[in-house]
Amino acid sequence: MAVQVEKSRISNPIDFDKNGRQAGVLRAPLARNTSAWGVIEIPIISVKNGKGPTVLLTGGIHGDEYEGPIAISHLARTLDPAKVQGRVIMIPAYNIPAVLNDTRLSPVDNRDMNRCFPGNPKGTFSEMLAHFLDGYILPLADVSVDMHTAGHSADSALSTNMHYLPDPGLRKKTMDAAAAFGAPFNTVFWGVDEGATFTSCVERRGIISLGTELGGWGRVNIEGVRIGRRGVDNILKHFGVIEGEPETQQRDGSAATRHMMVRDPAGYSFAPAAGLFEPTKVVGDAIEAGESAGLLHFVEEVDRAPIEVKYQRDGVLWMSAGPGRVARGDTIGVVMRDYDEALAAA
Ligand SMILES: [Zn+2]
Repeated sequence: MAVQVEKSRISNPIDFDKNGRQAGVLRAPLARNTSAWGVIEIPIISVKNGKGPTVLLTGGIHGDEYEGPIAISHLARTLDPAKVQGRVIMIPAYNIPAVLNDTRLSPVDNRDMNRCFPGNPKGTFSEMLAHFLDGYILPLADVSVDMHTAGHSADSALSTNMHYLPDPGLRKKTMDAAAAFGAPFNTVFWGVDEGATFTSCVERRGIISLGTELGGWGRVNIEGVRIGRRGVDNILKHFGVIEGEPETQQRDGSAATRHMMVRDPAGYSFAPAAGLFEPTKVVGDAIEAGESAGLLHFVEEVDRAPIEVKYQRDGVLWMSAGPGRVARGDTIGVVMRDYDEALAAA
C-alpha cells in the first residue's frame, strides 16, 4: 500500500489474498457502561478465485436504506467461488448500529457516517468506521458500488449516480459501468455537500465509483430490490468477474439506462417555510420549468393560504420530499435533465 495508513482499532478476520469464500465479522470496539470491552460485529464476505478485478459492494452506510443490504446479502449467500474470476468484497450492512436502529444517523455518536470520510481511527465510532473503509478496504478495490436509497428523508427515482469526473477516461469507464448496472436512470451530479463522503474518497484513489438510489420513504421498494439484485450481478458480468452479458432491459420497454445530470443549483427546490408539503409529482415523472411542485400547507393557521412551490428546470423528478412535514430549507424536489456532454463540461 503506497499510502501510510494509521492503525485501525477494528479487527478483521478475512485474508483477502486467500481463494474461496470467507465470511466473518469485523469487530469494532465500543465501550459502554454495560460492556467495557464490548465490540460491534459487522458482517463481511470475500469471494476470490483466479485472476481479475476486485469489486467492492457496500450497503447500510445509512441505516434506513434497505434495498442495497438485501441485494448484497443475497449475493453474499449465493455467489459460487468456482464461477468467479477476481474478487468480490461484500459488506451488506456496514454501519450496523444505524442499520439495527433503522436510522440514517448512527445512534452511537449521532453522526451521518457518509459525512465522516476519510475518518479517524481515534475519533467517534462513525469516524472509526469511515477510516477503516477508506484506509484498509478501498485500496483493495478496482470498482466500488456503494448502495443507497433516499432513506426516510425522501424518495428517489431508481438510479445509479456518479460525480462528474474531469478525467474523460475515468468518466467514460464509470458511465459504462453505470449503464451495465442497468437502473432506469444514471445521474451525473455535482453534489451539495460532498467533501466528506465515501464517494469522494473512492474518487481520490482513482477507483471506479458508483452510488445507487433505489427507493426511500422508509419502506422497501420492490422494484428497487429487483434492480439492485440485477445490478450487482450486472456489474460482476461487466467487469468479467462472472460470466454473462448484463441485462439492462427496462420496464418501460427501453433497452438501456437513461443518462441524466443535475448540473446547477436550480435543479434543487427547497421548502420556503416549515409546513405540511403536498407534492404534485412522484419520482420518475416528467417535469416542466415553472410547473407546481406542490403546496406547502399551514394547517395550524386556518386562514393562512398554502404556498405554491415551483420547479425551476425541465427534466425528470429524481428526488422528492419524504415526510409530509418539512422544515424550512428541506429539499422537496431534485430535477435531473438528460446528460449533455458539452453542457456538463461547461
Ligand atoms: Zn444513503
